[in-house]
Amino acid sequence: MTYWVHIARAIDRVTLHRDRCSEVPSTVTSSDFWEGGWFDYPDKERALRAMEQAGTTIQRRCSLCKP
Ligand SMILES: [Zn+2]
Repeated sequence: MTYWVHIARAIDRVTLHRDRCSEVPSTVTSSDFWEGGWFDYPDKERALRAMEQAGTTIQRRCSLCKP
């Protein structure tokens, strides 16, 4: 299963989503790890690592898709 990591630098928050969550945009435009955006990972382990590496204050899991 694919997991999505949403990095929002402006609000210093990173959120984990499951694939096909309604919050995941259907088309992902230019994402930059240091600027923020949406990033997909083939497994949860890598997604969680990416969340940690994002270094934001808030790390949360989506309440909608509950990854
Ligand atoms: Zn979600």
